[in-house]
Amino acid sequence: MHEEVLPGIHRIFDTFVSVYLVDRGDHLVAVDTGMDTTCGKILDAVEEIGKPLTAIVLTHGHLDHTGSLKCLKERTNAVVAAHVDEVELIKEKTGLEPDVKLKDGDVFEGFRVLHKPGHTRGSICLLDEKSKSLFVGDLVIERGGKLEEVPHQYSLDPEMNRRRIRELLEVDFENLLPAHGEPLLGNGKEKLRELVERLGL
Ligand SMILES: [Zn+2]
Ligand SMILES: [Zn+2]
Repeated sequence: MHEEVLPGIHRIFDTFVSVYLVDRGDHLVAVDTGMDTTCGKILDAVEEIGKPLTAIVLTHGHLDHTGSLKCLKERTNAVVAAHVDEVELIKEKTGLEPDVKLKDGDVFEGFRVLHKPGHTRGSICLLDEKSKSLFVGDLVIERGGKLEEVPHQYSLDPEMNRRRIRELLEVDFENLLPAHGEPLLGNGKEKLRELVERLGL
C-alpha cells in the first residue's frame, strides 16, 4: 500500500513510520527503509510503480529507519548512502556499511544533504530543491496537524536538535515530509515556524 503524496513522491506507511520512494525518471530512490517488517511493502510498491530501486538514502541509523536495509540491499542491490558520521551506527544496527558517505552540502540523487546532528551524530535532512520538499528524518515529527520534537529520550542531544529545528527556517522549502506522522504539503515552513515559536527557540 502506497500513496503518491506529491508528483513522483510515493509514501509507504508501516505501523508508525513512513518510507518515501522518489521517482528520478528511470529509477527510484528510497528515503529510509522502515522497520524489519517494511521490506515487502517497499518491494510491492517498487513493483507497482514499475521502475527499479537503485539507491537508498538513510536519514539516520535508528532501526525504524534502517530495519529493512539488509533485505532491500539483498533484493535490489541498491547503492546505500548516509552521512559519514552515521556509518558506525548503521554498521552496528544493520551489519551493513553504506556505499556512499555523504557530507553536508553534497548533492546525491537530486537531494541536497543538510547535516543536522542532534537526534544522532550523523542525522541528515534531504532537500529536493525542484519540488521544495524537505525530508526531515526524525528532526521533527507531525502529530494532529502540528509539528513536534521527537520525545527527548530518543535523542542523543535534544538541545542540539532544537538548534537544528531552528536552522531549518533558513531552508527554502514548502513541503515537509516526516518519518513519523503525516506529510505537510504546502504549509511545511509555516508549521515549522509555529513549532519554533511554541518552543521559544
Ligand atoms: Zn530516530
Ligand atoms: Zn524514527
